[in-house]
Formats: sequence, C-alpha cells, structure tokens
Amino acid sequence: MVIETNHPQETFQLGVDLGKAALPGQVYTLTGDLGVGKTVFTQGLAQGLEIKEPVNSPTFTIVQVYEEGRLPFYHFDVYRIGDIEEMDEVGYEDYILGDGVCLIEWANLIEEILPEKRTEIRIEKDLEKGFDYRKITIEEVK
Ligand code: ADP
Ligand code: MG
Repeated sequence: MVIETNHPQETFQLGVDLGKAALPGQVYTLTGDLGVGKTVFTQGLAQGLEIKEPVNSPTFTIVQVYEEGRLPFYHFDVYRIGDIEEMDEVGYEDYILGDGVCLIEWANLIEEILPEKRTEIRIEKDLEKGFDYRKITIEEVK
C-alpha cells in the first residue's frame, strides 16, 4: 500500500490510524533518511495507542518504553547502534516476543535480527513533488 502525504499532520494521522488498529505483538519497522518523518509518524502511532506522554526519538537509549497506553509501546531508534549485540543488552528479544507493540526506527541497521513477520513502513521524499511531499509504503512481510 502506498500513501502520499503533503503535510506533517497527514503523516501523523496515518500513524494515528495504524496505532488504533495495532494488535498485541505487532512489530513495525520504519526506514527512511534523516528528517523524512519517522518520528512524526511514530508520534501519531503513539497517539493511536492512547499514549499521553510526549514521544521523541530516544537519543541516549535504544528503546523507550511507554506502558500507559492501550497496549505497551516499545519505541526503538537504532540509529546510533554500534554493535548488534547492544540489542541483546537492552532486552530486544523479550520486547519482540512480548504482547506490546514494537516500532523500530532505522530498522535496516538491524536487518539480520528483525522478526520475519512484521509491517514494513518506508518513507521517502521526492523533491520534485515539493518539500513536504512524502511517499509512504506499507507492506506486510510474511
Ligand atoms: P526522522 O525521525 O525521520 O529523522 P522527523 O520526524 O524527526 O524525521 O522530522 C521530519 C521533519 O519533516 C519534521 O520537521 C516535519 O515537520 C517535516 N515534514 C515536512 N513534511 C512532512 C510530511 N509530509 N510528513 C512528515 N514530516 C514532514
Ligand atoms: Mg527520528
């Protein structure tokens, strides 16, 4: 499925819609260049999960945990990961196998340990279509 947005609010709203529909154990992977809108989308998804706390990219930690929403929400940003073993150290496996919702920004950096069943979300710019244009591709894997 491909969705095109022309404003951050539209990307946010897409996140809200997916968050409302999210099921326990669901894993979303999010890829796209810096500044493309991954965090905007994630903030929408968190709202869709009824999380009231502000959600930002976890700068100093790989994972940020939100427990007060409709489902537990595990927000990973693996941009600064040095070694894949750091994922073990933060308890990645338990989160992935748990009943919460996982979302992994920069998932391409940990490709080899992604679960086979996941929802892939790719966000791309196309400057010919305007500065705020984003092409968002959503694909169920397996
Ligand atoms: P990332 O997490 O991918 O590095 P952010 O979500 O932090 O990116 O930032 C995306 C930036 O792009 C924000 O400043 C946002 O306002 C802007 N933006 C412009 N148009 C869009 C759009 N259509 N969808 C999402 N973000 C957009
Ligand atoms: Mg981000």
